[in-house]
Amino acid sequence: MRPAAWPWWRWWPWLLAYTFVPRWVPARWRRPAIGYALAALLQVVTAAISWLCMRASPTFSYPGLLEILVVALVALSWGAGPSLLATLVSLVLLETVVVPFHVGAGQTAIGEGLEALLFLAAGITISLVASRTEGARRHAEVGQAEAQARELALRLSQQRMDEFMGIAAHELKTPLTGLQGNLQLMARRLSDPRLEQAGADDLARVVARVRSLVARAQDSLHRIGRLIDDLLDDARIHQGRLEFRLERCDLAAIVRAAVEDQREIAGPRAIRLELPEVQPVLVIADASRIEQIVTNYLSNALKYSPEDRPVAVRLQVEGALARVRVCDEGIGVPLAEQGHIWERFYRVEGVTIQSGSGIGMGIGLHISKTIVEGHGGQVGVESEVGQGSTFWFTLPLAAAAS
Ligand code: ADP
Repeated sequence: MRPAAWPWWRWWPWLLAYTFVPRWVPARWRRPAIGYALAALLQVVTAAISWLCMRASPTFSYPGLLEILVVALVALSWGAGPSLLATLVSLVLLETVVVPFHVGAGQTAIGEGLEALLFLAAGITISLVASRTEGARRHAEVGQAEAQARELALRLSQQRMDEFMGIAAHELKTPLTGLQGNLQLMARRLSDPRLEQAGADDLARVVARVRSLVARAQDSLHRIGRLIDDLLDDARIHQGRLEFRLERCDLAAIVRAAVEDQREIAGPRAIRLELPEVQPVLVIADASRIEQIVTNYLSNALKYSPEDRPVAVRLQVEGALARVRVCDEGIGVPLAEQGHIWERFYRVEGVTIQSGSGIGMGIGLHISKTIVEGHGGQVGVESEVGQGSTFWFTLPLAAAAS
C-alpha cells in the first residue's frame, strides 16, 4: 500500500526538479518538451538498430541492452521525466517490433512477461538513480555558482563601502577645513590690537571682510549639514525608518522654493524655471522631502555642467501625474550607467565635477529614488554623453492619489 504521506502528485515536483536540459543545447531549444521528443526518437532509432542486429545475427542475444544504455544516457542528459518515457517507449518497441511478445500459455509467456517486468524495473531504477545523481550534481554546481556570485556581490559592496567611507570623510573634511580657516581669519582680524584705534574707513573694511568670511563659513556649514542629512537619510533607508509626513501640498510652490534656494547658493548660474499656468499643482506628499529631491537633481545639474551653461527646471501636469524635469547641458551619463546611478554609493567612474567643489558620495540619487517611490512616483534619466541630462520624477496628483 502507498503511504498516505506520499500521494502520487508529490512525484510531480520531484520529477520537475530532476528534469533538466544539457548545457550544450542552444538557448532556443532549451525546453523540456524537446527532451521528451528526443528521448522517444532515440529509442525508436535504438529499436531499429536492435531489430537489424537480430535480423543480421540470429545469435544476437542482448535485445534491450542498447535500450537500457539509451535510458541511462537520457537520464544523465535530460533527467527523470524523459528517461522514464524512454523506458516505456523502448519496452513497447521491444515487445511489439524487436522481439514480439507471444501471447499464449505456458512458460514462454511467463518468461517473456518476467523479462518485460525486469526490463521495466531496470529502466525505472536507472532513470531515477542516474537522474537523481546528475540532478544533485547540477544543484550543487548551481549552489556553488550562487555562493560565488553572493561572495562577489559582498566583496563589491564592501569595496564600495570602503570607498564611500573615504569619500564621506573627505567630503566632510573639506568644508570643515574651510570653516576652520574662515573662523581663524575672523578671529585674527577681530583680535588685531590696531582695531581699537582704527578709523571709520578701516573699521568698515574689516567689517566687510568679516562679513564675507561669515558668508563663506555659512556655506561650509550648509554643506556639512547637507552631507550629514544625506548620511542620516541613507542610514534611515537601510534601517527601514524613512518616514514621510504626507499632506496636501502645492508642487509648484515646492519646486519654486527649491529653485530660489539654489539661485541664492549658485550665485551667477542661470537657473530657468518653467511652471504650468494652472496652479496650484496639488499632490499628497512630504513637502520637505520633495524639495530635497528637486535640490538634489538641481545641485547635480549645476555640479556636472560647466559654469556658463544654463540649467532648467520644468514642472508639467501629464494626465493624473505631475512630472518635474531638471535639464542640464553638462557631461551627460553614458547609457550603460543610467540604470546604476540610482544604486547606493554608485558614482560614474572617472566623472569629475564641472563647477563648484566636492566630489559627491553617490547616495543623493539613491535617496531621491527611495523618496519618490515611497510617494508612488517614478524616477528616470534621459542623457547623452557630452550633450547633457534630464533627470525627472513623477508624483500622482492629489485627486489620483486620494
Ligand atoms: P553624487 O553625490 O556622487 O553626485 P548622486 O547619487 O547624486 O551622487 O549621483 C550619482 C552619480 O550619478 C554621480 O556620481 C554622477 O556620476 C552621476 N550624475 C548625477 N547627476 C548627474 C548629472 N546631472 N550629469 C551627469 N552625471 C550625473
